[in-house]
Amino acid sequence: MFDSLSRSIEKAQRLIGKSGTLTAENMKEPLKEVRRALLEADVSLPVVRRFIKKVEERALGTKVLEGVTPDVQFIKTVSNELIELMGGGIGAKDLEPGFPQIILMAGLQGVGKTTAAGKLALYLKKAKKSCLLVATDVYRPAAIDQLVKLGAAIDVPVFEMGTDVSPVEIAKRGVEEARRLGVDAVIIDTAGRLQVDEEMMGELRDVKAAVRPSDTLLVVDAMTGQEAANLVRSFNEAVDISGAILTKMDGDSRGGAALSVREVSGKPIKFVGVGEKMEALEPFYPERMASRILGMGDVLTLYEKAEAAIKEEDAQKTMERLMEEKFDFNDFLNQWKAMNNMGGLQMLKMMPGFNKITEKQLYEAEKQFGVYEAIIGAMDEEERSNPEVLIKNLARRRRVAQDSGKSEAEVTKLMAAYTSMKAQVGGMSKLLKLQKAGADPQ
Ligand code: GDP
Ligand code: MG
Repeated sequence: MFDSLSRSIEKAQRLIGKSGTLTAENMKEPLKEVRRALLEADVSLPVVRRFIKKVEERALGTKVLEGVTPDVQFIKTVSNELIELMGGGIGAKDLEPGFPQIILMAGLQGVGKTTAAGKLALYLKKAKKSCLLVATDVYRPAAIDQLVKLGAAIDVPVFEMGTDVSPVEIAKRGVEEARRLGVDAVIIDTAGRLQVDEEMMGELRDVKAAVRPSDTLLVVDAMTGQEAANLVRSFNEAVDISGAILTKMDGDSRGGAALSVREVSGKPIKFVGVGEKMEALEPFYPERMASRILGMGDVLTLYEKAEAAIKEEDAQKTMERLMEEKFDFNDFLNQWKAMNNMGGLQMLKMMPGFNKITEKQLYEAEKQFGVYEAIIGAMDEEERSNPEVLIKNLARRRRVAQDSGKSEAEVTKLMAAYTSMKAQVGGMSKLLKLQKAGADPQ
C-alpha cells in the first residue's frame, strides 16, 4: 500500500543531505500519502481536509531529525498531531462522576448499544461499583429480553416495564429504582433507528431532560465509514453527548471514525468495543488508534531508530570522555543537567539518588543551570576546556564574573561545583575502567 512512499523515501535518502526543515515543497508527496491513508481508513472527507490543512501549517518549518528524510519527519509530525487531536487536552476519559452515575446510551440501531450497556455494567462492577441496567427500547420485545439476558449473565439487575410504558417514564422510574437500591450507577439503554430521525432524537432529548445523565455516550460502529462525521454532528447537536464508545474494533476497520468523532464533536472517545463478549471493552488509547488509522508503522520505526542512534551516540561520547578522564566546563554543564533530571542522559538518571526530583527542585535546578550557563558562556575557549587556568587565576575569574553579569561569589560556587563533580566523575571513570578490564581480560 505504501510502496510508492517507501520508494520516495529511498530516493530522498540518496538525494537529500542530512538535515533541514519541512517545506511546502518536501511535504507535497508525503501529504498526498497521508491524505490517501486517512481516506482509506474511512476518515470523513471534510475531516481529512481540515486535518491536512492544520497539519500542513503546523509542520511547516519543523526541523528534520538528523538521519531521517523530510518524508519520515513529516509522517512523524502527522502521527503526533493525530495522537494530540484524539487524546490531548480532554481530561478524564473515564465516566463522569455522579451520585448515582447516570449513563445514557445513544446511537443508531445495531451499532452495539445494548451490548455496550452490558459491558459498561461489567466494567463498573469490576471497579467495585454496583449497577442497575434500564431497558427503554420498547419497540422490540426482543430488545428487552436481550438486556435481561445480558444482565443475568454478568449478575447485574435489569429494570424493565415491558413495552407499554413510554421510554421517558421507564427511564425516570429506573433512576428512582437505582436510588432506592442505593446502587452507584444506572445505565439506560435506548432504542435506535436505522437512520437519524427526528422521532429518535426527540425521544432521546426527552429522556435526557427527565433523568439528567452524568454521561451521554454515543455508540458508534467503527464500520460506519464516511457517514460518521454527519452522524456524530446530528447526535451531538440534539443531545450534547459527553463522549463516545467505538464498537466493533475487532473487525477490519482501520478506525477512521475515531478521528471523525473527535474532530466533529470535540468529545472524547471513552471506550472501544473489541468483541461480542461482555469483557470485550477497552479504554481508548490515542497512540494505538493513531497508528491504526495512519497505518505507517514502518515509517515511524525509521524515525525511532534515528532517534535511538542519536541518543546512543551522545551517551557513547560522554562515556569516552569519562574513560579519558577529560572533564571540562562543557562536560560539567551536560552532566549537571542530567543529574538534575533536566532532560538528558538516561544512563545517569538511572543511577541511584538522581531520580525522584520534584517540580520545585526542577525549577530551582533550571534557574541554577541558567546561572552556570551564563558564566561558562562568558569564558574564553582556553578557560572552558581547561578549567585549571581559571581556578588558579583570580583576575580571570573576576573578568568572567563581570562579562557574565554574575557575582564573583557565583563564579566561585561554580568552581566548587565543578571540582566536586570532577571528583565524582573521576571515581566513576575508575569504576568503568575496572568493569571494562573485567569484561575483556587481556
Ligand atoms: P444495538 O441495536 O445498538 O443495541 O446493538 P446490539 O448491542 O444489539 O449489537 C448488535 C450486534 O453487534 C450484536 O450481534 C452484537 O453482538 C454485535 N456487537 C456489539 N458490539 C460488538 C463489538 O465490539 N464487536 C463485535 N464483533 N460485535 C459487536
Ligand atoms: Mg439494543
